[in-house]
Amino acid sequence: MATTTIIDRPSRVEGKGKRKAHLPKGRQVQAADLEAVASILGDLPRRKDLLIEALHRIQDDQGHLSAPYLAALAELLRLSQVEVYEVASFYHHFDIVKEGQTPPPARTIRVCDSLSCMLAGAEELIAQLEAEALSDVHIQRVPCIGRCATAPIAQVGQRAVDSATPEAVWSIKDITAEVPHYQPFNAYKASGGYSVLQSVIEETLTAESAISMMSNAGLRGLGGAGFPAGRKWSIVKSYDGPRLMTINGDEGEPGTFKDRHWLERQPHKMLEGAQIAARVVGCEKIYIYMRDEYPAIIKLLKREIEALATSDIETVPMEIRRGAGAYICGEESAMLESIEGKRGLPRHRPPYIAQVGLFGRPTLNHNIETLFWVPDILSKGADWFRQQGKRDHPGFRSYSVSGRVKNPGVVVAPAGSTVRELISEYCGGMAEGHFFKAYLPGGASGGILPASLGDIPLDFGGQLAEEGAFVGSHAVVVLSDQDNIKDAVINLMKFFEHESCGQCTPCRAGTEKMVKLLSTPGELDEATIADLERVMRDASICGLGQAAPNPVAHLLRHFRDDL
Ligand code: SF4
Repeated sequence: MATTTIIDRPSRVEGKGKRKAHLPKGRQVQAADLEAVASILGDLPRRKDLLIEALHRIQDDQGHLSAPYLAALAELLRLSQVEVYEVASFYHHFDIVKEGQTPPPARTIRVCDSLSCMLAGAEELIAQLEAEALSDVHIQRVPCIGRCATAPIAQVGQRAVDSATPEAVWSIKDITAEVPHYQPFNAYKASGGYSVLQSVIEETLTAESAISMMSNAGLRGLGGAGFPAGRKWSIVKSYDGPRLMTINGDEGEPGTFKDRHWLERQPHKMLEGAQIAARVVGCEKIYIYMRDEYPAIIKLLKREIEALATSDIETVPMEIRRGAGAYICGEESAMLESIEGKRGLPRHRPPYIAQVGLFGRPTLNHNIETLFWVPDILSKGADWFRQQGKRDHPGFRSYSVSGRVKNPGVVVAPAGSTVRELISEYCGGMAEGHFFKAYLPGGASGGILPASLGDIPLDFGGQLAEEGAFVGSHAVVVLSDQDNIKDAVINLMKFFEHESCGQCTPCRAGTEKMVKLLSTPGELDEATIADLERVMRDASICGLGQAAPNPVAHLLRHFRDDL
């Protein structure tokens, strides 16, 4: 027979550190903090999915997130304090200050220590800045900021410093984002922009024809996965509405900067592509998820979305959501979690997001560059687009090329181009005094191949896949005879260790263990590395953990002289 134990709780607790009789247990919210946080949030709706934006507003205002303000925010959004804390502590751009801790210095200087910046001397730059920094400055190592062509990169507040030197960094006074010169709404429209959208709205171009043209053009998802865009439109459209659309502007793959390149020049081409896709598929709202590392783009997109929305063009509503410094939010389901105001933990699949996506709705998700090509394809035709690529590789591609080449940058070249072609025909050859030794065909996770495999078409699948590599977001990092490949691989593995969301053990513990195994002096424990690699590939939930061992496998296969 069950027995009941009655616990006699004291009804009144007094004294230092004790709860007052009329208060519930736990951290109490002070009226003054509630008032202050409410004032910082301003007109921001008090909704759970806006938690990350709310945290941004407090961080922007205060320079950090204090425990009392987090408690007040929880109260205002009607969330538990735990929910607010777990989200705030997930994202690298939020500085939480616990009770008794000192707030961080007023000015933060972020310095990228990912591979392209490492090759360009980021370690020396960090050391110099740390040695010279005064107490009111915080030097923070960060992963790729998406400006690899002008490495090394620092970011002072919101102001990026290309080819950074200590002198250039210390000379920055204005730390607000600097919006580059770009093609605004009126200029884009005057050049014929939004005419394809107009024909979709007026149905002189039907949804069926548009999908068919997209499929025939062979455009693939250029965020990394390479899924055929036309087929994706058909699949999402086949599910009952209401449907939503998301745009993934979280290009965090080290070495990738092509989306920033296009948005800084022709934002409306992507916006028109998005509007067309949303109309054809029948999505009622578009969410644009932009990485927080691109403050200038967030600024210009807000301005141009407003210009478009107030024009005479009938548009699908668009909303920008800011990321907060988490590479994993580039994974589509993690991005949806983040837009919903949660930690960016990748979801288990199925169901796929095309069926159950943002807020449980069928969701069409696209990368920035994918949408960029849509107006051209629908106005110039599928054949035109196909013919821009090499045989069996339709279309253009924007390769982000960095590392030891003379002229790094975004290269628009036929799909299926090889790294040798990119180096010699588009980048002016190798940098002075450097000889081509190796390359990353697809950022940190796409592997590292030797120069002897430099004639492989850089496209999805095919020969690259046979070599255990992939093109992903087309981030090509070129290494030379002056680079040690093991050092490069350790840099990449540290990145994965830092960015693993921690949800599954093979990735969380595996990336950490791999860094330790590679960094241990003496002979490598290759048997343990091989074992670990197998577990990570087979048992990780998402692509981060599954692909993280790629560069390690290539190091052991192709670069034994560098061990
Ligand atoms: Fe998170 Fe890594 Fe697991 Fe992906 S593989 S869910 S990043 S821990």
